[in-house]
Amino acid sequence: MTTQRILILVKPDGVRRGLVGEVLSRIERKGYTLEDLRWVNASSQQLRYHYSDLVSKPFYPSIEEYMTSGPMVAAIFSGARVIEGVRSLAGATDPTAAAPGTIRGDLACALEGDRIENIIHASDSPENAEKEIGIWF
Ligand code: ADP
Repeated sequence: MTTQRILILVKPDGVRRGLVGEVLSRIERKGYTLEDLRWVNASSQQLRYHYSDLVSKPFYPSIEEYMTSGPMVAAIFSGARVIEGVRSLAGATDPTAAAPGTIRGDLACALEGDRIENIIHASDSPENAEKEIGIWF
């Protein structure tokens, strides 16, 4: 069996706030292997494919605005059960509700209005990881 991989994005708020090293370091310290790393500037087309499950949601325009608000860092990590492990490190989608100790719980909070900025994207299945690696690398 090949080692499982995950695609992570340090989202524009994470880059703006100088948290790239912090986010990558937490994942490395857990024991996963950094396989590849690059800067990305998301296009609308890439985001529509990446978030194909969410494109029809009323809040999709706010996701696109957020994810194109600045550069991001894309990384591939590998390891046994890396998807489960990194999603556990990332914490819940809503940063207010995310548990302390997680990336989102420790480093992000609610914004005025309904906007959500939550530092990190992490693939949620092996199929989506391979799809997303194809989008960003
Ligand atoms: P996760 O990133 O935790 O896997 P989802 O796949 O449900 O969560 O959502 C993808 C991203 O879309 C979230 O990380 C967040 O940036 C954004 N998002 C999700 N739900 C909302 C919402 N109700 N309003 C604004 N943005 C949202």
